[in-house]
Amino acid sequence: MNQGFKRELEAGLQAVRQAALLCRQVQSGITTESLAKQDNSPVTVADYGSQALICRRLRADFPADPVIGEEGAAELRAAAGADFLQQVLQLCAEHGAAGTADEVCGWIDHGGASQYSSRFWTLDPIDGTRGFLRREQYAISLALIVNGQIELGILGCPNMECPSSGPGVLAWAVRGYGAWQQPLLQSELPATAIRTSGTTEPSDLVICESVESGHSAHDWSGLIAADLTVGRPTLRMDSQCKYLAVARGEADLYLRLPTKKGYREKIWDHAGGVLLVLEAGGQVTDISGGLLDFRQGSTLALNEGVAATNGRVHPVVLRAIERNHLPG
Ligand code: AMP
Ligand code: MG
Repeated sequence: MNQGFKRELEAGLQAVRQAALLCRQVQSGITTESLAKQDNSPVTVADYGSQALICRRLRADFPADPVIGEEGAAELRAAAGADFLQQVLQLCAEHGAAGTADEVCGWIDHGGASQYSSRFWTLDPIDGTRGFLRREQYAISLALIVNGQIELGILGCPNMECPSSGPGVLAWAVRGYGAWQQPLLQSELPATAIRTSGTTEPSDLVICESVESGHSAHDWSGLIAADLTVGRPTLRMDSQCKYLAVARGEADLYLRLPTKKGYREKIWDHAGGVLLVLEAGGQVTDISGGLLDFRQGSTLALNEGVAATNGRVHPVVLRAIERNHLPG
């Protein structure tokens, strides 16, 4: 029984919503010119700002919990980062977290754990940075892991559509208590339960995968789709919004197929989304059918790739992956 996670859920939801609003503000300021210049500074500033807001709240409410986050403040503390630091301080202040340079860097560095422990959080302050820069999908992902089990998973998805309220979804799951969504901007509206699809016919499957062919092998998923006689177009999307798409039944499976031997998936790229799919009735394993092992520090060192499905088609999908292993 995990009644005790009510406080964690409330703090996590508030912090992720706050960070998502910060990210939205920065993303709305990205111009065609800054994109043409391949200027990554908006995502850098929003990344630090998001981690600062969330870690500030976690440190205040749960000071003993380590946080394995993607970012650290070393770049901001260096002389060359002074300009970024000023922007991050201003953003944090605008979003209700005014602090000195030392305080804000301290919040960010609170997310600097990397070792496994019996209870910790993992945070990706902006997952899908490429999507963020293209003004497409990205997510803020936060999860609480206790004794290797994901107990709480939260995704802020500022550009995913929420039924009847437009863009912006806050989605979460607590182990044993289902998966839920709410409009990001209207926290007063009731949360609604989300469920995976009922699709069983392989030809009806909607596959979802990364936009970036460097993050998941598109040629390999093409072979799998052909093997399953999938007739519907593949949904390409950045970030853990793919897990939300499967959890809500918009896609039936999410494939993450290794593009190179030895790449270790990062826990913050998965933990939040995985629990959403599981609690929505789906299944998540690596591409060999093994459960994802969140006891290995900051990576999924014992797993290769990921397959997340509506649950019903999981065995069929795993067999298709096995039949279509790319050579090499
Ligand atoms: P996505 O938006 O699904 O393409 O995933 C974005 C995440 O991919 C980033 O947060 C990175 O941590 C991760 N990533 C970076 N390089 C690789 C790689 N070679 N294979 C898989 N994931 C990667
Ligand atoms: Mg990421």
